[in-house]
Amino acid sequence: MQTKLWIGGAAVASRSGRTLPVFNPADGGLLARVAEGGAAVIDAAVSAAVKAAAGPWARMSARERGKILIRIAGLIRGNAESLALLECRGAGKPLGDAREEMNLAADTFEYYGGAANKHFGETIPVAGGGLDYTLREPVGVCGLIVPWNFPLVIAAWKVGPALACGNTVILKPAPETPLTALALAALAAEAGLPEGVLNVVPGPGPGCGSALVAHPLVRKISFTGSTATGAGIMRAAADGIKRVSLELGGKSPNIVFDDCDMALCVEKSVWSVFYNAGQDCCARSRVLVHRKIHDKFVEALVARAKRLVVGHPEKKGTQIGPLISARQYDKVAAYLASGKAEGAELLCGGARPRGVPAKGHYMTPAIFSGAAAGMKIVREEIFGPVAAVIPFKDEEEAIRLANDSAYGLSASVWTRDVGRVLRVTRAVQSGVISVNTSSSVHLEAPFGGRKGSGLGRELGLKALDLYSEVKNVFISDV
Ligand code: NAD
Repeated sequence: MQTKLWIGGAAVASRSGRTLPVFNPADGGLLARVAEGGAAVIDAAVSAAVKAAAGPWARMSARERGKILIRIAGLIRGNAESLALLECRGAGKPLGDAREEMNLAADTFEYYGGAANKHFGETIPVAGGGLDYTLREPVGVCGLIVPWNFPLVIAAWKVGPALACGNTVILKPAPETPLTALALAALAAEAGLPEGVLNVVPGPGPGCGSALVAHPLVRKISFTGSTATGAGIMRAAADGIKRVSLELGGKSPNIVFDDCDMALCVEKSVWSVFYNAGQDCCARSRVLVHRKIHDKFVEALVARAKRLVVGHPEKKGTQIGPLISARQYDKVAAYLASGKAEGAELLCGGARPRGVPAKGHYMTPAIFSGAAAGMKIVREEIFGPVAAVIPFKDEEEAIRLANDSAYGLSASVWTRDVGRVLRVTRAVQSGVISVNTSSSVHLEAPFGGRKGSGLGRELGLKALDLYSEVKNVFISDV
């Protein structure tokens, strides 16, 4: 297990001697102590990244950069089992889910490896003769700040396109889940990534993340996490006119019309909100259901949710693991209390399942009915296994309720009516929307949010725009 800082192509001990304890959410046990970065370490990592930006990396062709990314993908696959176990133990994910995530991380590096030499400028027919064309240049040193819910996957979504475009980066994992980010750094070095191109500094948000955002030589911040922290990062980045992309919280609607395939919709809907114990920015936690089918749908949803197996992430058959921490558990429990106090009815869940380790943060999937627009459980991102069902009478009301949110990340629509699909997908204010499925994320397609859910689109070829500057060149023909 890699537990030191990764700076300038090597594992280095923290000079301050400070460490972050990393706990296993499954049983509260101490997994590791990882070197903790603060402002001085961030400064050293930025210096390494600045130096690397002027080294062999700067002279490497896009094709060569792409080959390194593809080698990183291969090494992730080659080490998938140990990485999956690390992610399972660090983030409390069922082992099967962690394996899928390692696969997705490898796919991401492969995709951006292939894309590296396919992202280029254009020639533009300007008036007055001469030649006008654009170049795509790296932004410079990028600070990549990731959360604990999908640690390696979200790191790959940022590191992949940033390196494909020729930048150098400092990756700051969440203090709860630094282990796979550190493992990634070692694999990248093995793949031939020049020293200093990828630096990994685990540490807390205030003091470490904030020092990265404030550092004058960091030109771009890419952040995934809560809306409040994202807003603070945007403010802090303003002084240096830094490029900022933000993938923030969500309170996504799952809009169920009376002509849907109910069995399919119920099956997908439970996963769309309870997957990863609900710790998912795309969680469809507001379930809007047409009045005509409301009671039948809710009954089926509750019955299905009760069959989800909540348990130890390493136990065969577990579908939902624990929440990340006691703090997160308490936060979710407070939302359950608030939902009840505001008059919603808790139909199932929100309890500790039987037979799980006493110090793990396990919670059974909770479903509220009788929820209404003004309630806290409907307005705020809970980031736990909690769904709120709200009835609607017609399409107009469904759209109004769907858009009655400070967020705008994902949405799903369930109907067999093509005209309605067209109207609703146009009207809902979200960055992504899926029809008759709950999927949100496709590696090849843009992903991101509107309103309080963020700024910019990750994934797909659009992500390369986040990590490159456009330079326009005009050459006179006189
Ligand atoms: P957070 O948004 O504060 O942290 C996410 C990342 O940002 C972490 O790496 C953290 O160390 C870093 N960070 C925090 N403060 C920072 C600062 N001032 N400057 C730079 N970096 C900073 O999230 P959290 O505290 O881990 O969790 C709080 C809540 O955020 C959760 O309960 C959940 O509702 C939400 N959350 C959302 C997402 C998402 O993907 N939408 C992810 C994680 C957490």
